[in-house]
Amino acid sequence: MQTVAIVGLGLIGGSLGLDLTRLGYRVIGVTRRPETAQMALAKEVVHQAGTDLPLVKEADIVVICTPMDGVVAIAQALLPHLKAATILTDVASVKGALVRELEALWPNFVGGHPMAGKAEAGLAVAEPNLFCGRPYVLTPTERTPQPAVTAMAHLAQQLGAHLYTCRPEEHDRAVAWISHLPVMVSSSLIQACQQEPEPTILALAQALASSGFRDTSRVGGGVPDLGTLMARYNRDALLQSLNLYQQQVERLKHWIVTEDWQGLHQFLSQAQGARPAYVEPTPQVGE
Ligand code: NAP
Repeated sequence: MQTVAIVGLGLIGGSLGLDLTRLGYRVIGVTRRPETAQMALAKEVVHQAGTDLPLVKEADIVVICTPMDGVVAIAQALLPHLKAATILTDVASVKGALVRELEALWPNFVGGHPMAGKAEAGLAVAEPNLFCGRPYVLTPTERTPQPAVTAMAHLAQQLGAHLYTCRPEEHDRAVAWISHLPVMVSSSLIQACQQEPEPTILALAQALASSGFRDTSRVGGGVPDLGTLMARYNRDALLQSLNLYQQQVERLKHWIVTEDWQGLHQFLSQAQGARPAYVEPTPQVGE
């Protein structure tokens, strides 16, 4: 039986634990607060849990599932407790900067990003099958040992995830478009509405807001810590996306100011035609 240690038992670590225990792995959890370890045991997320890093010493695979700004320091602290053959991986939402640092620390490292999330954080909202049917991106480099990639690909497939493999920098540019830019745009939408000067109009808008606003504001109303870390760690790719987004807003404004309804219609038609490629199932690439 393989042993997996999960460091950080929040939404992602907890959900992973729920799946891996049911898949027959022995699962050990390490977290920061003893109450989270207790909750993880009570929810049967892990077989063993605590706050001490040496708990990982029997693990064949160690998955770091803490917030991004803690990943490198935790990896450093883990090193003395790892077996030589242990595979170290992470789930961080940005790969470039972290992968280079982590593979320099531990040669048997594979970067990973299971792309499933929620608006809330913490173990209390962890759930089984969170990764099923969702992308799981592995970001090996020229230094990553192939057996470690194969083992992580197997684990991702056991979770029912769709496996993708790409370079860390390619991952970061792609997720800037479809994950990090939407958080910034969606939060700007909410903030723009908040600028309405007339309290009665604002209250009316809030009362009338329905499914369209719910959809477009969802990711902007999510966890501020994660959004800030996305921007901090993926700054260049996000700024590039924001610049191109801003250009599109300027085009829209131009057509409306000049009453060029044909230009606006063409823009909206192009957007309508382009959307399915993002939201409808497509053949998998990069495998
Ligand atoms: P979360 O729900 O806030 O959970 C973070 C967990 O890390 C908490 O359980 C916390 O433990 C633990 N932790 C913090 N510092 C620690 C330390 N020094 N040692 C051990 N445990 C520590 O966060 P999350 O949403 O699961 O995100 C975790 C990672 O997944 C991040 O790298 C994020 O980029 C990535 N990710 C997130 C999403 C998403 O949508 N949320 C999606 C894909 C990937 P305590 O409870 O004990 O304080």
